[in-house]
Amino acid sequence: MKSSPHHILRTCFGYDTFRDHQQDIIEAVLAGKDVFVLMPTGSGKSICYQIPAMILNGIGLVISPLIALMQDQVSSLRQNGVRAEYLNSSLSYHEARQVESRILSGEVDILYVAPERLLTEQFQQFLKSIQVSLFAIDEAHCVSQWGHDFRPEYLKITGVTGQFPGVPRLALTATADTHTRQEIIEKLDLTDAEKFVSSFDRPNIHYQVQLKDSEKRQLLAFMHQEHSGESGIVYVRTRNRADSITVWLEQEGIKALSYHAGLDSQIRHTHQRRFLLEDSIVMVATIAFGMGIDKPDVRFVAHLDLPASMEAYYQETGRAGRDGLPSDAWMVYSLSDLMAMKKLQDTSDADESFKRIQRQKLESLLGYCETVECRRTVLLGYFGEKYPAPCRNCDTCNQEVETWDGTVAAQKALSCVYRTGQRFGAAYLTDVLVGNSTDRIQRFRHDKIKTFGVGKELSKSEWRSVFRQLLAAGLLTVNMAEISGFRLTEKSRPILKGEEAIRFRKDPPSVPKKRIVHAPLIRESDFIILRSNTLFEKLRKLRLDISRRLGIPPFVVFHDRTLTEMIARKPKNREELLLVTGVGEKKAEQYGDLFLKAIKSEESSR
Ligand code: ADP
Ligand code: ZN
Repeated sequence: MKSSPHHILRTCFGYDTFRDHQQDIIEAVLAGKDVFVLMPTGSGKSICYQIPAMILNGIGLVISPLIALMQDQVSSLRQNGVRAEYLNSSLSYHEARQVESRILSGEVDILYVAPERLLTEQFQQFLKSIQVSLFAIDEAHCVSQWGHDFRPEYLKITGVTGQFPGVPRLALTATADTHTRQEIIEKLDLTDAEKFVSSFDRPNIHYQVQLKDSEKRQLLAFMHQEHSGESGIVYVRTRNRADSITVWLEQEGIKALSYHAGLDSQIRHTHQRRFLLEDSIVMVATIAFGMGIDKPDVRFVAHLDLPASMEAYYQETGRAGRDGLPSDAWMVYSLSDLMAMKKLQDTSDADESFKRIQRQKLESLLGYCETVECRRTVLLGYFGEKYPAPCRNCDTCNQEVETWDGTVAAQKALSCVYRTGQRFGAAYLTDVLVGNSTDRIQRFRHDKIKTFGVGKELSKSEWRSVFRQLLAAGLLTVNMAEISGFRLTEKSRPILKGEEAIRFRKDPPSVPKKRIVHAPLIRESDFIILRSNTLFEKLRKLRLDISRRLGIPPFVVFHDRTLTEMIARKPKNREELLLVTGVGEKKAEQYGDLFLKAIKSEESSR
């Protein structure tokens, strides 16, 4: 054996301590066991196979479907002095041969391959001529036929690994639901593997949901207040919206690019590359932008439209803050967005059982949006995890949510729905309730019914809020395939009869005050202060120059966390620099002096 896992963690990766499970996983692999690893995005799965691959004799084979990422993963490892290579279709015949010859002469510890390559007869012959130390099957959920990332080649991986008895296998994924979990274990033959499952909590992400009144104003206010000049993703539902929001952001002086399936693949590629390589781009994207976005310093994910489900929301927001620093998941939504989603679902050609599942998914999402409880608790609860509230890092924990007794208002609203024949939407019903005698209302003679004008005590926007919350609570329903108006449900009766009470939340102001960071995040609040430091800008600039020169993304040089720690510690020499998180020996040697110089010049100019 070469050196200890901890020694490699320190000297190569520049980290002091292992995170949850990492050390146990590494030890299990070193002991020759198969392991199954379920950990959220950004929790540090890669190190679990990289370190054993560096310790064990032979080559650690990493099977990954994300060809576009391999180059970055490998160059990032090389920056740390790790002997890594990749083989995929992006290499020329000649380049591939060179990689193979480096492997044969024992110069490689880790090799990334795409599953297609693994399955070729030629590659399998090659494997037999070398020593394989381990198989890491990354994105293992690709084996699931029910998931949207299904790759048929994944089903054949065990056929290959089976020819190497005694070589440990690791299957890694961040996809949480139990069905997929079970499928991975079956299909990859991991029943006897040691299983490591982490909490899916992402403590550094702050969750926030606002009601949409003017989405552009709200988004700008959020970006200016919290994330000026930083990288982020804005998710929207359609290609047209992605394009128009991009144009508008550009006009507002924000560097923005769009990404959706309607763009030429070359353009998509360029945009993705720029997002990785530059420091402060906002990507405006549809769901087409996602899997394999490995950028650690995405500071916010904003949803201008509702995501498809809670799973989608978790995956999409999970792209923020992979480096563990404070980040935001921010969303705005409105009653009309909800209706648009309902319409899409109800009028689709899908069969009834599928539609029923979709309806339930939308209800869960709505419940999340409308909750008065800690958002983290609701989110993790959806995945079967119990989180003890309050988290103190979400909007409902940080700003008191005011509620009011809505029983009477609910009765008025529901009876108005009933008396107008269960075929009108919120706008019309609101007019009836506040006694606004429009032409349409007169035509239907709804100015003559009992509920006309009984709701003058609330404003129009308050009534909209009531209808939204009744819908969220399942006290009203709509079937957009038929009549697009509200209808009563089973649950409405006890409220109407006065047998049950209901409380509504008061809608918070749409542009909240600047956020206060609470005590448990004290280290992170330092980060927030440091971000506005001039030395930080200087170091960022230096990092960008180096990354351009080397043709690698800035975060591959150093993470933001490393830069902020440099500012806090002000290292004066190589030894002190090596104490900073994320600085390993290779990086210190390669460009450490440049950073030391920049820090020194700032000190003496003060
Ligand atoms: P995952 O594959 O689980 O999404 P990664 O392996 O890409 O996550 O790791 C996410 C980030 O966390 C990387 O920047 C990695 O260098 C960092 N990291 C991993 N392990 C540690 C550790 N023990 N201490 C500090 N940072 C770590
Ligand atoms: Zn909370």
